[in-house]
Amino acid sequence: MVDTPAFRLGVDLGGTKIEIIALDASGEVCLRHRVDTPRGDYPATLESIAGLVRFAEQQLGCTASLGICTPGAVSPATGLLKNSNSVCLNGKPLLQDLQRSLQRDVRIANDADCFVLSEATDGCAAGAASVFGVIVGTGTGGGLFINGQLLAGPNAIAGEWGHNPLPWPMQSELPGADCYCGKRGCIETWLSGPGMQRDYQRVTGKALTSDVIAALDKQGDVAAAACLDRYVDRMARALASIINIVDPEVITLGGGIGNIDRLYTDVPDRWGRYVFSDRVGTRLERPVFGDSSGVRGAAWLW
Ligand SMILES: [Zn+2]
Repeated sequence: MVDTPAFRLGVDLGGTKIEIIALDASGEVCLRHRVDTPRGDYPATLESIAGLVRFAEQQLGCTASLGICTPGAVSPATGLLKNSNSVCLNGKPLLQDLQRSLQRDVRIANDADCFVLSEATDGCAAGAASVFGVIVGTGTGGGLFINGQLLAGPNAIAGEWGHNPLPWPMQSELPGADCYCGKRGCIETWLSGPGMQRDYQRVTGKALTSDVIAALDKQGDVAAAACLDRYVDRMARALASIINIVDPEVITLGGGIGNIDRLYTDVPDRWGRYVFSDRVGTRLERPVFGDSSGVRGAAWLW
């Protein structure tokens, strides 16, 4: 594979759709196509991806580099996919199987890594040397982009802050809710959409989604505003602990929670209380590409 391919293909392997895009040499999207994901069928999923790649290359009239955005991660120890919520993929050698069927090197990364790579390449953090990107929705996945590339570690968990405990907990926050990972009080149990819902429900007795709580806050609802205030302080603490270790130039928030406007002013107003520095120059930025970040970041793996 050449260093700067004429076209880059990115595939986002989602739970309901598989999408492919082609980026030209200037990074513009010149092809986009999507098909339904074959549910629970690994061989059919492989064939769908290969079919999309063949279709795209027919349209382009040449071969292209290929990156894949997957739920979960490839275990460095086994080469098998792990931690995927599309469970038919877990334990499967997705990368090796794709490389064999498509006769080329393929690169693979999870959705949070693709998100931060996309935003760091030509999104809200273009030009920044260090970026922490998190997808805050049903979970709180994270990825780190350092000095022009994704940070990869021996465990394939770089940036995965969500299963650390909430920092500087108040008495009322201990011990925290049970987390599916087996621990209690993880950042994810507070900052995910379901975490915000749980916090609101504990105070008001009402089960509302994070979208609804954020909308009520905009309308001046007192209970929703108090819930968002608590959320802002927890987000500030959780990000401050990242700033204290990594000191990234930019932090960006993807996922549904990243659409809440006040986070971009209120969290930076608050995180100075927790960051070990006289001033905080870190920028908290709204992502540019939204739901396209997975497929774009996959293409930018080359
Ligand atoms: Zn956890």
